Amino acid sequence: MLIMPSLLTIVLPCYNEQGVLKQSIPIIWKQVDNLIKNQNVSPDSRLLLVDDGSADDTWVEIQTLSNQYPNTIKALKLTRNFGHQNAVFAGMTFARDRLNTDVCISMDCDLQDDPKIISQMVAEYQAGYEVVYGVRSSRNKDTTAKRSFAQWYYRILSGLKIDIIPDHADYRLLGKKALNALTQFNENNLFLRGIVPLLGYPSTKVYYEREERIAGYSKYDISRMIRLAINGICSFSSAPLVFILWLGMIISLFSVFMGIWALGVKLFGNGSIPGWASIVVPMYFLGGIQLFTMGVIGIYVGKIFEEAKHRPKYLIEQEL
Ligand code: UDP
Ligand code: MG
Repeated sequence: MLIMPSLLTIVLPCYNEQGVLKQSIPIIWKQVDNLIKNQNVSPDSRLLLVDDGSADDTWVEIQTLSNQYPNTIKALKLTRNFGHQNAVFAGMTFARDRLNTDVCISMDCDLQDDPKIISQMVAEYQAGYEVVYGVRSSRNKDTTAKRSFAQWYYRILSGLKIDIIPDHADYRLLGKKALNALTQFNENNLFLRGIVPLLGYPSTKVYYEREERIAGYSKYDISRMIRLAINGICSFSSAPLVFILWLGMIISLFSVFMGIWALGVKLFGNGSIPGWASIVVPMYFLGGIQLFTMGVIGIYVGKIFEEAKHRPKYLIEQEL
């Protein structure tokens, strides 16, 4: 009996990447082409480029490349910038529904995710793993700030019992079953690396060295990074709300003791009036804590607000 090799789709989100694609697409395609030649994957395997509302000539570049390399590229153009996670989700949904995909790999288009491990990932899939994580073997290419931010972040996540793979971003392989399961997750606040471990399919890791970006600039500035980080915590754990409850209880208990102390001073003190510091300091302190806790609750209310609207995660303007 002839077994058809699996159809591989590589999803590549692109946002303002006109200077990158010329260089990266042939290199990534070469890996897929090798797999096709060795009959490891189907000859209908493709790269799926998702233009996430780029403001530069990314779409023009995609069209040029598609003419230059026939039968390699499929592409989607989103109507505007929906963000990296949504662009990846758009690509995966399209891969599942329209391209008959058996195996889907998502990766960045700037060659920071080393394409040389694609074949290893596919081999792991063929060995029976539905999910294969691309994991960075070291973080020595990061700035010290980014590295320690990441370290602390993983510490907090593991403290909150949120299951995510350290040093894995969005370079991963999903088999058809995992892809089907993932695209059923209907939340607007997408944090894919938090959802994938929830699927529960057998998974493994492949390690790679993360390179510098070949051209262009990183779209993850500090504010986007923090937003993604908060999303990662607050979309997967309500522990911060419980933390507020504990904080409130501890402060209430403390204030009971403060009350007893104040009463003691009044009744048995030698007439000295407790200074203004003991009033003003707790005032600022409690004011700060109240604003902080309201902010935390606000994040969750905001998320409920966003999810309640059920807005589409992305809109497609054009297909290629
Ligand atoms: N990206 C995207 N939409 C965005 C931001 C980024 O599709 O709003 C893509 C980007 O083109 C790249 C990948 O997501 O392929 C990762 O982004 P980037 O390289 O800027 O992040 P970094 O690697 O610096 O964390
Ligand atoms: Mg990058």
